[in-house]
Amino acid sequence: MPLTTSKEMLQAARAGRFAVGAFNANNMEQIQGIVDAAVEERAPVILQVSQGAIRYAGLDFAAAMVKTAAAMADVPVVLHLDHGTDFDQNVLCLRAGFTSLMFDGSKKPYEENIATTARIVEIAHICDIPVEAELGKVLQSTPDITPQDVLDAMTKPDQAADFVARTGCDSLAVAIGSVHAMSSKAASLDIDRLKSISEAVDIPLVLHGSSGVLEESEVEAIGYGIAKINVATLLNIGFMDALRAAVAADTKASDPRKFLTHSREAVKEIVRHKMRLFGASGTVTSSGFSSPKTQHRSADLGNIE
Ligand SMILES: [Zn+2]
Repeated sequence: MPLTTSKEMLQAARAGRFAVGAFNANNMEQIQGIVDAAVEERAPVILQVSQGAIRYAGLDFAAAMVKTAAAMADVPVVLHLDHGTDFDQNVLCLRAGFTSLMFDGSKKPYEENIATTARIVEIAHICDIPVEAELGKVLQSTPDITPQDVLDAMTKPDQAADFVARTGCDSLAVAIGSVHAMSSKAASLDIDRLKSISEAVDIPLVLHGSSGVLEESEVEAIGYGIAKINVATLLNIGFMDALRAAVAADTKASDPRKFLTHSREAVKEIVRHKMRLFGASGTVTSSGFSSPKTQHRSADLGNIE
């Protein structure tokens, strides 16, 4: 089917207490692995392209690959810009046919973040395209990062209502204890902070940096308004582990397809696991989204597979 926007998808997820997985894609094998899992799991899916991926593949090429994958799928697929850090990048992606945008003004002063987010929301909404914004900072993992750094960067619940009202953003990335690009699952989320944010705003909330978060903490967060969970590092690790193992098992073969097929399969299985964990599997039906089977999932942690 054609690309869909993330607006109704995330609202349905928030209402149904599940989260849509948003998976970063840089190449054809990753895109195919992600969409194959979505089709088999009957789950909605967001494919997101970062500015790094745009530099790597080219904007039109990346957009065309995701559009082709969506056209061949019978579940809703969104093409999302991940961490667009300026106004121009968002406009270029809007023109290229992205069905969901993100402006990340988290490194800018508060008022500047509001002003640029509001400008992007204004033009995107003319085209019925939703915009994710970021308040607080989800930091990058570095050797010298401290728990205090993470705490200082967290989203302030008392700013959230003001920010959402003044920007008109459709979803909000929140900093509640996760860190980008962590290679081990060690972080617990600040659920009390998430509850306060969730009570202050009525739009879907987004979790970045999930690869470093304990899975039970991710699931608990879904019960308090997290409706989109970004997954990037885990997919990269799975892709490369499979590639290294395939090369080690056959050092003579020269056809890259022999190796990359293992990477594609590894990505697919990680995505499948996440979709089940997030309660998104089985939510796509012929009449739209269904959700009752995943309701109150956060209160029933014993059922996590
Ligand atoms: Zn992120």
